[in-house]
Amino acid sequence: MTSAAYDDNNIFAKILRGEIPSHRVYEDDQTVVFMDVMPQAPGHVLVVPKAASRNILDADPASLSHTITVVQKVANAVKEAFDADGVFIAQFNEPSAGQTVFHLHFHVIPRHEGVALKPHSGKMEDGAVLAANADKIRAELA
Ligand code: AMP
Repeated sequence: MTSAAYDDNNIFAKILRGEIPSHRVYEDDQTVVFMDVMPQAPGHVLVVPKAASRNILDADPASLSHTITVVQKVANAVKEAFDADGVFIAQFNEPSAGQTVFHLHFHVIPRHEGVALKPHSGKMEDGAVLAANADKIRAELA
């Protein structure tokens, strides 16, 4: 079965264009990183390539290559910022795999020994908490 086409009205495309707000922690010429508004753990961020693709299946390999280096950089930053024991990286392709926003993104989530992850797309976090967590990550990346 073929996938649907990329829709540039998806919520991450709007965030990339600055049409709706986000708590950005990093940006370069090819990627933007911002806080997930329904974090599965404190410090949950999304690494989003600027190039339009629905998910990994239709992504441009050059953009993907750069994006994974940003995932690595941000994984180290959230691990330090939240004094985490480990980091969970997740990426979903198509609804059957759990994808809900159809612009490629990587979840980067600090993990602590014995602390369960909250549900995917669960509860909206308070804006002040997201802002404070974004500050911690920016400080680590600086
Ligand atoms: P998925 O497409 O299943 O990989 O997940 C999409 C993720 O985007 C979920 O973890 C949501 O909590 C998150 N999300 C949805 N809307 C926003 C938004 N406006 N800003 C930041 N994160 C969002």
